[in-house]
Amino acid sequence: MAAPLIEADAVVVGAGPVGLFQVFQLGLHEVRAHVIDALPYAGGQCMELYPDKPIYDIPGTPVTTGRGLTQSLLQQIAPFQAQMHFSQLVESVTRLEDGRLQLTTDAGTTFITKALFVAAGVGAFVPRKPAVPELEAFEGRQVHYPHDAALPDDSLADAHVAVLGGDESAVMAALEAANMAGQAHGSARITLIHRRDAFTGEPSTLQQLEVARAAGRIQVLAAQVTGCEATGSRLQALRVLTAEGTETAVAADHVIVRLGVSPKMGPIADWGWTLERKQVPVNTEDFQSELPGIFAIGDINFYPGKRKLILSGFHEATLAAFGAMAFISPEKKVHLQYTTTSPRLHQLLGVGTQEKS
Ligand code: FAD
Repeated sequence: MAAPLIEADAVVVGAGPVGLFQVFQLGLHEVRAHVIDALPYAGGQCMELYPDKPIYDIPGTPVTTGRGLTQSLLQQIAPFQAQMHFSQLVESVTRLEDGRLQLTTDAGTTFITKALFVAAGVGAFVPRKPAVPELEAFEGRQVHYPHDAALPDDSLADAHVAVLGGDESAVMAALEAANMAGQAHGSARITLIHRRDAFTGEPSTLQQLEVARAAGRIQVLAAQVTGCEATGSRLQALRVLTAEGTETAVAADHVIVRLGVSPKMGPIADWGWTLERKQVPVNTEDFQSELPGIFAIGDINFYPGKRKLILSGFHEATLAAFGAMAFISPEKKVHLQYTTTSPRLHQLLGVGTQEKS
């Protein structure tokens, strides 16, 4: 089957708060955007780093949370029906002879667009991996990272499962694995491996861990993973160095890695621009980079006085949408219209126009 090719007026890289608001601003100009994100969901840092923490400095919203803001933005952009492409990392951007931009993703999708909005924040969120490169060969089959597809229900019956990590998500993963294994009535063995026998998380989660430990449903091992053992293409065990300094092997049919995620600038650095402090320099008129038709908004950009705040990104997205119309519909005159009073904008937003009283 041929790799998918999508032609678009506008592509937004990054579904963080600023990328989402870019969709809204483009929608007001009657431009439908495609949005690509390496994560399997929208929200960027808000969802990945602080979904349940409060935010107090969104204008007109005295308090919300990372998750709440993301949900509000998704609701706000719904009328514009952006097409979301999740779990795809944009790898390369090149310019075609006709001036349009071609993007390729690690999922093999190609996008050709008139204007590109890079709202890539501090980079693509990718899972932290244990320092054992040999484990890569088993990824997707026996080694599982956050955002991977869920394991089939029956896959843990009689399996040896090693969970790596010490935070809430690691403890939760161990508890879920123990529950799945318990339901399968096999003789599974779940080992939670962390460099020390101390875990962070909600008190109720830690309490559940204590209960599972006491019942022998989860073993805890204070150790660091140093290597692995395999038979042919099948992973058999992890080699670990315990906190007491003993080297030993832990049988592992599945390894669930919960060491957190970290942002990686990755390929963005090679898209043909000169970065400043790992950020994309832009003008403050329309937040266009040195590359015509490529706008950089939100945490990824740099200009004198830049502050990495969500509200700064919202302003940048607004002016970038105006600026990009020269690439998307050069023949069109662009006027400022108020969402309060413009019947055209009401129609785009799918809301009724108020009769004059
Ligand atoms: P991000 O939110 O970083 O989103 C970028 C997205 O782009 C990510 O989802 C990433 O996966 C994706 N991406 C990157 N590269 C690629 C690629 N090559 N291919 C595909 N996808 C890619 N700001 C405030 O204004 N108020 C606050 O109270 C506040 N509190 C904060 C609290 C914490 C703990 C943290 C860490 C930050 C806080 N911030 C706050 C900062 C705020 O979260 C950021 O300014 C904001 O998230 C930037 O939005 P963004 O859309 O530019 O980027």
